[in-house]
Amino acid sequence: MSTLLRVHDIHKSFGGIRALRGVSLDVEEGKIVGIIGPNGSGKTTLINIISGFLKPDRGTVVFQGRNITKLPPYSRARLGVVRTFQIPRPLPGLTTLENVAIAAMITGIDEEAARERAVKILEQVGLAARADIKAGSLSEIEKKRLELARALALNPKLVMLDEVLAGARGEELTSLLETIRSLKERGITVIVVEHLVSAVSSISDWLVVLDQGRKIAEGHPKEVLKSPEVMRAYLGET
Ligand code: ADP
Ligand code: MG
Repeated sequence: MSTLLRVHDIHKSFGGIRALRGVSLDVEEGKIVGIIGPNGSGKTTLINIISGFLKPDRGTVVFQGRNITKLPPYSRARLGVVRTFQIPRPLPGLTTLENVAIAAMITGIDEEAARERAVKILEQVGLAARADIKAGSLSEIEKKRLELARALALNPKLVMLDEVLAGARGEELTSLLETIRSLKERGITVIVVEHLVSAVSSISDWLVVLDQGRKIAEGHPKEVLKSPEVMRAYLGET
C-alpha cells in the first residue's frame, strides 16, 4: 500500500483561536481513515485545508507525491481530492439528479454522459427513487446522501466526508455505513470526520483523534479507543 495523502505540520489560527497546532497525518491508499474529536477540535478546518478551501499558516499537503498546498480547490478536485460540506449545500430548485449531473459536468463530460453518471451514482448512494424530486424537498439525511453523490460525481480518488453520519440512526445509519464501505470497495480512499465515535470506529481501518487542534492519538480503532489519553481528553472520563 502506498501513501496517498501526506499532511505535514499544519498550523492554522483564526485571530486568537489556534484551530490546528502542528497536525501531521498519512493516509494510505484504499483505506478508510476516521478522524474524530470533540466539537471545535479542528476537524472541519483540517478538511478545509486538505481540500484547499483554507490555506494553512504553516505546513504542507502532499497528494500522490505532489505538493498541493497552494492549489485552489478546483485544481485539487481535478487531481481527485474531493470533500463534502458539513452543512449540505444542494441547489434546492434543481432535482436531485440535476444536482449530481451538474457536479459531473465539472469534470468535463457532456450533459448526456453527466446524466448517465448521475443515475449510477444515485443508485450507489441510495437516492435513485428521489432522482426527480427537487433537492430542496429532500430530508436532512437525504441531503447528506446528495452531498456524497455530488462528491462522487467528481470521480474522486480521495473523498472526505464531514459529519455525514450525524443525525442518522438505526437502519439509516447502517445503510450509510454500508454506502461508505462500498466506496472503499471501488478503490476510493475515504476520510470520515465525525464527532460521534462508535459508528465511525466500526468502519475505519485507521483512527485519528484530534483534541484542541492537536493529534492526540492514532492507530487501529480498538487500540485508540482504549487509550487513557483519548478517554480523558475526548470522552471526558478518567
Ligand atoms: P470541528 O470541525 O472539529 O468542530 P472546526 O475546525 O470547525 O472544529 O473549528 C476549530 C476551531 O476553530 C473552533 O474553535 C472554531 O470556532 C474555530 N474556527 C473554525 N473556523 C473558523 C473561522 N472561519 N473563523 C473563526 N474561527 C473559526
Ligand atoms: Mg466540523
